[in-house]
Amino acid sequence: MSAPFRIGIDLGGTKIEGAAIDACGSVRVRHRVATPAQDYRGTIDAIIALISTIEQQIGATATVGIGIPGAVSPATGLIKNANSTWLIGRPLQRDVERAFGRPTRLANDANCFALSEATDGAGAAVETVFGVILGTGVGGGIAIRRQILAGANAIAGEWGHNPMPWPTPDEIPGPPCWCGRSGCLETFLSGPALAADHHRHYRQTLNAPEIVEAAAAGDLECRATLERYMNRLARGLASVINVVDPDAIVLGGGLSSISALYEHVPRLWARHIFSDRVATPLLPPVHGASSGVRGAAWLWPPEEAP
Ligand SMILES: [Zn+2]
Repeated sequence: MSAPFRIGIDLGGTKIEGAAIDACGSVRVRHRVATPAQDYRGTIDAIIALISTIEQQIGATATVGIGIPGAVSPATGLIKNANSTWLIGRPLQRDVERAFGRPTRLANDANCFALSEATDGAGAAVETVFGVILGTGVGGGIAIRRQILAGANAIAGEWGHNPMPWPTPDEIPGPPCWCGRSGCLETFLSGPALAADHHRHYRQTLNAPEIVEAAAAGDLECRATLERYMNRLARGLASVINVVDPDAIVLGGGLSSISALYEHVPRLWARHIFSDRVATPLLPPVHGASSGVRGAAWLWPPEEAP
């Protein structure tokens, strides 16, 4: 029996978003609730309640996929690498399925983003998509022929905790990272990292959107901060191209709305890429903020359900 709808749940650090998409990929119902922070049991209850609300509204049961801020350890089934730290070490999928009574599929949220854009988004026409989240955190995922590449350790595409490549002297050792290392790409490329970099240079407290806006209005210091950011993003992505050589790179997360990235970063990455010509397109997301729920829903792929 196949379900006519797919539900995707995007479990974030501050909110849990849920949506039902129909067989054509149109979002039919959408809800969000605040994440019960630091509360594992409460997080599971909130997920189940969200699924139940959505199923009542569509008047049907649906397949359920969940995007999580972390990975499921293939060895133990326990959550690891989650910046929502109350999930770490917990058997989230088992506990959700026990409470819910039906099978679910779980995947890393950046993998869900890549899957969403590869299934029916910016990368739908190509084979290999590298999806990048530039938001509160930095993540990445690889989709090949519309399937997530998970990897032996469930960390394929996890790019944010590699060191900044081709570092300048002032980037070493780099800011401390929550993962215990220093100078991870995330400590330079997240939204808070952009704001912190600006403050380090100019002692001026602005958040990422304010810096982007001021740069567009001609503020020289904000422009310089944005240029450092683009240069770092270009180096980070050049190292991915040198290994994976994806057919397309799609940006997601809050900072993907910076339109200057798509023009300047591909110019800046060329000198670091081991190829005479670089054809890799850097693309904005088609589904924007919906990619989290959409990718989670597509964990049940088109060829499997309705
Ligand atoms: Zn790190």
